[in-house]
Amino acid sequence: MSVQWNDCLRQARKQFGQTIGKFEAISHKIADMKVQLEAARLLVYKAASLLEKKKTVSLDAAMAKLFVSESLLKTALHSVQIHGGYGYMVDYDVERALRDSVASTIYSGTSEMQRNIIARWLGL
Ligand SMILES: Cc1cc2nc3c(=O)[nH]c(=O)nc-3n(C[C@H](O)[C@H](O)[C@H](O)COP(=O)(O)OP(=O)(O)OC[C@H]3O[C@@H](n4cnc5c(N)ncnc54)[C@H](O)[C@@H]3O)c2cc1C
Repeated sequence: MSVQWNDCLRQARKQFGQTIGKFEAISHKIADMKVQLEAARLLVYKAASLLEKKKTVSLDAAMAKLFVSESLLKTALHSVQIHGGYGYMVDYDVERALRDSVASTIYSGTSEMQRNIIARWLGL
């Protein structure tokens, strides 16, 4: 999801005499998106590092795939909300990003299957 695009909007779009990034409700969404992005990045790096060392990676890969795709879905929804009506229109990338994010919870192993793998590793 385009953090740059959100940055641009946060600083450019004005409502009620101020940029919308000054509204706490908007800035909190962007803060949450940043946390999701950084946490997802760390999970991917950890799985990649295990893979590089030729260690067992299936639990970490499942956690990374689940978290990355569900974070993408959450942040895409925030992005649509932040963009208001434009976020819903097919003419803009934001709507496509939301559709793509839903797909990411389905392809390469659905979120349900990732949870099954994680649960199995936890002995459940
Ligand atoms: C955009 C996109 C791109 C894709 N690209 C490829 C590709 O390049 N190559 C390829 O081979 N496939 C691809 N797929 C297909 C994708 O891998 C499958 O759609 C996915 O594995 C789910 O299978 P299904 O559609 O048959 O759903 P189903 O298996 O019928 O599942 C339906 C629902 O039931 C859940 N479910 C099924 N079994 C279980 C279970 N045992 N426990 C818990 N929940 C379960 C699923 O999680 C899902 O929510 C793509 C799909 C999409 C959306």
